[in-house]
Amino acid sequence: MTSENEFIQKKNNNKSREAYLPYSKQWIREEDIQAVVDVLRGDYLTTGPYIDKFEQSIAKYVDAKYAVAFSSGTAALHGACFAAGIQDGDEVITTPMTFAASANCILYQGGTPVFVDIDRDTYNIDSRKVAQSITDRTKAIIPVDFTGQPADLDEILEIAKANDLIVIEDAAHALGATYKGRKVGSLSDMTMFSFHPVKQITTGEGGIITTNNRAYYDKLIQFRSHGITRDKNKIKDSHGLWYYEMQFLGYNYRMTDIQAALGISQLKKNEHFLKLRKKYAAMYNEAFSKMDLLDIPFQNQGIESSWHLYVIRLNLCKLRASRKEIFEELQKENIGVNVHYIPVHFQPYYSELGYRRGICPNAEDLYECIISLPLFPAMTERDTEDVITAVKKVLLNYSKKL
Ligand SMILES: *Cc1c(COP(=O)(O)O)cnc(C)c1O
Repeated sequence: MTSENEFIQKKNNNKSREAYLPYSKQWIREEDIQAVVDVLRGDYLTTGPYIDKFEQSIAKYVDAKYAVAFSSGTAALHGACFAAGIQDGDEVITTPMTFAASANCILYQGGTPVFVDIDRDTYNIDSRKVAQSITDRTKAIIPVDFTGQPADLDEILEIAKANDLIVIEDAAHALGATYKGRKVGSLSDMTMFSFHPVKQITTGEGGIITTNNRAYYDKLIQFRSHGITRDKNKIKDSHGLWYYEMQFLGYNYRMTDIQAALGISQLKKNEHFLKLRKKYAAMYNEAFSKMDLLDIPFQNQGIESSWHLYVIRLNLCKLRASRKEIFEELQKENIGVNVHYIPVHFQPYYSELGYRRGICPNAEDLYECIISLPLFPAMTERDTEDVITAVKKVLLNYSKKL
């Protein structure tokens, strides 16, 4: 668009901004592109040196012993459920306030997701309710670090220890977040990070499991490639140098070297990304903290969120409009708002499995009032100000006080 056209368009509408601002978007610069091109010119496109290097970089970054890269965060969660030994009849506790993948991975292994309600302040799984939901069939807990704020890991790990359960932390939002001074990624038995383009760093599609447990590591490596091993120490009866053994039913969940190279380049920038996310979140907090028409995100003591999402809770009793109307008005202002999340048990597939509305009232109530505002490192201070202007404009316009 020419600048003249832009000017005319600006004059002709009074939206808070002229160009649509998405809720999230990747940050790709020349060095990322160069890293990918270098792989394309090299010898390996998949499972070459960059996978090892990426895994080592992530493990080091989060202070874990091992990391296993996967083709997606969802595939990584599936791998973790396999490594945890989840099978038919096992119950696994998770939160409904998450993306479907956190629960789907349980179903892939024949397990039964048990949805436990969220805490009203943090929106993370309520650890007190976790303890009450354990049965003799419970095998694991999958807490989610919702919006980048770590779940109550001490409490959850203690419950797990007392009941002999495995904790698989869904940290898709939380690369770089800290819990009581330690980076998320080495606290739970296994931790998953996602590298989808809207996440903290991207590999296009991709995910990883970090762990300190060698047995899980070995299983994850094999699971990601058909259940096949070439390891001489594991093979029962070698026929020769060409020989490999498929020892259980795995999948092709491998990440490519192309993706891993992008991931290495992206990871170098994560601390910078975190600073920017934090800065924009602080601008939102500052602008909205005194407005009684909404609640800003509550932050627990002792944690540093990675600020993956900025979720506002509308105070609907003080507004003359529903969340739906406010959402649509913000979209009309060219602000790419979103909703995280539709409770997983509301999905038709889960309803058909027998999950009813009413099982997690806090999550269900929250769903009615939330809107995610744009928050990503590639946005600018100006973009953040536009969002603030639009939110104030729309909310004040619907305030009952007017
Ligand atoms: C993105 C996401 C996943 C799945 O990751 P993919 O890489 O998209 O497969 C799982 N859990 C949560 C909470 C997520 O946000």
